[in-house]
Amino acid sequence: MHLLAVIVPKQKSDNKQTKIMKNIFILLTIAFSTTLTFGQKIKVKQNIQQVTFVLKNVNVITMTSPNSIINNATVVITGNRIETINGALPKNAKVIDGKGKWLIPGLIDMHVHLATDGYFGSKLPTQFPDLAFNTQDIMTPIISNGVTTVLDLNSTMETFGQKKEIEKGYIVGPRIALAALINGGNGQGRIANTAEEGRIIVRNIKAEGYDFIKLYSKLNIETYNAIIDEANKLGLKTIGHIPNAFEGKLEQAFIPNFGMVAHAEEFSKHSENFNIQDAQKFAKLAKDNGTWLSPTLITMVWIAKQTHSVDSIRNSPNLKYVHPLLQSKWLTANNYAKNATVENTAYFDSMVKFHFQLVKAFKDLGVPIVVGTDAGVSGVVAGFSVHDELELLVQAGLTPEEVLKSATTLSAQWLGIDKQIGTIEAGKFADLVLLDENPIEDIKNTRKITGVFINGKWLDKSKLNAMLSDLSKRNTASKDKYDWNTLMNKRK
Ligand SMILES: [Zn+2]
Repeated sequence: MHLLAVIVPKQKSDNKQTKIMKNIFILLTIAFSTTLTFGQKIKVKQNIQQVTFVLKNVNVITMTSPNSIINNATVVITGNRIETINGALPKNAKVIDGKGKWLIPGLIDMHVHLATDGYFGSKLPTQFPDLAFNTQDIMTPIISNGVTTVLDLNSTMETFGQKKEIEKGYIVGPRIALAALINGGNGQGRIANTAEEGRIIVRNIKAEGYDFIKLYSKLNIETYNAIIDEANKLGLKTIGHIPNAFEGKLEQAFIPNFGMVAHAEEFSKHSENFNIQDAQKFAKLAKDNGTWLSPTLITMVWIAKQTHSVDSIRNSPNLKYVHPLLQSKWLTANNYAKNATVENTAYFDSMVKFHFQLVKAFKDLGVPIVVGTDAGVSGVVAGFSVHDELELLVQAGLTPEEVLKSATTLSAQWLGIDKQIGTIEAGKFADLVLLDENPIEDIKNTRKITGVFINGKWLDKSKLNAMLSDLSKRNTASKDKYDWNTLMNKRK
């Protein structure tokens, strides 16, 4: 249930009719609250501080329209909102000098897997955790990279818990959109193998308050169709893999309300020799159905790299920001590296190349492309991975401005929160990234972060660096306690 319903009983009245009206109102409020979209839900997000900041002489890349840059602007941020751009100056504000710097909207990663205590299966959320992740440690690499919103594509009750910790202000972290995953076959999680099972699970997911549905590879066609149809009826968008059952009949997967394909790989699996005609055919299927694409180029780049050698991960400068248990898993229980053969290494290499062609074909046909990174997959470190993906998308043929749009306004639009975030405009939430240099000139400049506003909270470079270095020190110091194979054997 949600805030509005709790506020109602405060008014006292002995009048019977008023009581009945009040009860009807409560019922209506409950009914209404269960149909809230993700966009409506973030409106009630608590405002946790009321400090006013003035960001002076900054170049604002508003992302409201192409080439919309306001040079030397004054941006006033009060609480968690952008109050004015070039408006009146408030008294008692904290001043940040933005001279020569560039302001962009907070970045959005449309495909992450946040580690939770239940991340490794076998334990139920009701059981005492034998592995405990510190939520701040999960979020620090994300926010320090200017990523202020993420879409988690396999959320559980524990992800809700993390989201609440952030909303209460205990943890500094991004806005989190939650997608519940449905798979077919057998195994853990939500499994549906008939249309009716699929519909029931979708209704439960809606009632539990998740924002989106993630479709997975083992769904059969009948169940897949039913899930997407039921989700549509309940106003839930769907994103996912294209189930294996569509092999040889890919076009049948493109039905109304199949909202987004979560990897370019979902298409390339259906191309025998990675030719450009296939890429164009796939783009047309997506375009005609209104289905968007999150290519996750960085995921495939990392998969290919580790089939060559797991040293690619060992030598990654960002590995130290990953929890030591995951570091150990990525290095010692790495299936990509273990199963590597000359053939599949060559296959993954050519898939990386084909993915660039796919992205170009989708762009040329006007299919909206968003930035997702599959952070959590071995090698892909949340936060940092967004900047990698931005660069890869530019290499694939998008302009720097187009990829910024992919990581801000377009993603906000798909999530249904473009009225609240995604551009820099008065009234929007203060999710902002201050850069030392212009990212439109060179996309690599998105890495030159000098500070981040996250829901109105200002974190400058020194604070962000301190958080990161503290995290890496603790991760490194506790490495010995988290040997993957020892801990997983103990659990069995
Ligand atoms: Zn994923």
